[in-house]
Amino acid sequence: MTYKAEYIWIDGTEPTARLRSKTKILADGAELPTWGFDGSSTNQAPGKASDCVLKPVFVCPDPIRGGDNVLVLSEVLLTDMTPHPTNTRAKLTPVAEQFAAQDSWFGIEQEYTFFKDGRPLGFPAPQGFPAPQGFYYCGVGADEVYGREIVEAHLDACLEAGLAISGINAEVMPGQWEFQVGPAGPVAVADQLWVARWLLYRIAEEFGVAATLDPKPVKGDWNGAGLHTNFSTQAMRSSYDPIITACEALGTKAQEHITGYGADIEHRLTGMHETAPWSEFSYGVSDRGASVRIPWQVEVDKHGYIEDRRPNANADPYVVTRLIVDTCCSALEK
Ligand code: ADP
Ligand code: MN
Ligand code: MN
Ligand code: MN
Ligand code: MN
Repeated sequence: MTYKAEYIWIDGTEPTARLRSKTKILADGAELPTWGFDGSSTNQAPGKASDCVLKPVFVCPDPIRGGDNVLVLSEVLLTDMTPHPTNTRAKLTPVAEQFAAQDSWFGIEQEYTFFKDGRPLGFPAPQGFPAPQGFYYCGVGADEVYGREIVEAHLDACLEAGLAISGINAEVMPGQWEFQVGPAGPVAVADQLWVARWLLYRIAEEFGVAATLDPKPVKGDWNGAGLHTNFSTQAMRSSYDPIITACEALGTKAQEHITGYGADIEHRLTGMHETAPWSEFSYGVSDRGASVRIPWQVEVDKHGYIEDRRPNANADPYVVTRLIVDTCCSALEK
């Protein structure tokens, strides 16, 4: 007897990497081997030396195929077994290791938008616009909500896969939704977010719908899509001074973070639509117009976590968690 292993990896598409996957049939009981692919088709290698290596890093049950079948998130290596230049996970793991004693937790809010026939789901085709924003966020009813059957199927799939998905909600623009992963450590949350993204694309495919992480899918007076990143360390979960230390530290490295928070971030972080301008760092209690928000309950409790509202929906969570751990944990260590 055999089982199916779906090897999933992150490609070299510029400026925003995409997910790829292919299937390996394995004998029952066989361990997951390293595998390879044609890097010349994924912007990861020249045709004359096209082989890249897939090394399994995170395995979970495959909720689509069921049975003993598995999803195998893999990192990309060169043939000398060193990390490929596009392998951002390999840049995160030593930083996560360095600050492991601070016990960082992340909860990541993935916003995304469904598209059908080149239009956001719920937008009239072939042109024109739905009623302005105001009733869609957390809405209910066929005139306010589009794609719920896909969202529910995705939620169930993430739970069956054993991912730490913590919630879902309809967003501010029609066809726009969010799921949250975490809290979990920096590497685990990013691994699981990438698998949750793959499941989203794969399940929407069954419905003939494309899910996109475009940070500003519709220009004009429509909300963009973000990747709000909630963060705490053991110290921040115990007292308030470390919360402020983390916010101040993020302010000293604002430009470096913006650069790593996803392509086209200046189109989303305009200062409108619940964002702070990308060029000005700010933090505040309960402030959804700040770069970093301290939830009001955290100020009341005098401990908890902060929300970095800047990352784009299309950001790489390996990069986002590396930057935040590096910046905040370095400052908290002092
Ligand atoms: P928002 O009010 O911004 O929409 P959400 O409820 O969508 O917030 O997401 C909050 C996220 O923060 C969840 O994924 C949750 O698991 C996570 N979270 C809660 N407590 C912590 C913590 N102490 N450290 C890190 N993340 C946390
Ligand atoms: Mn071939
Ligand atoms: Mn949210
Ligand atoms: Mn949201
Ligand atoms: Mn949020």
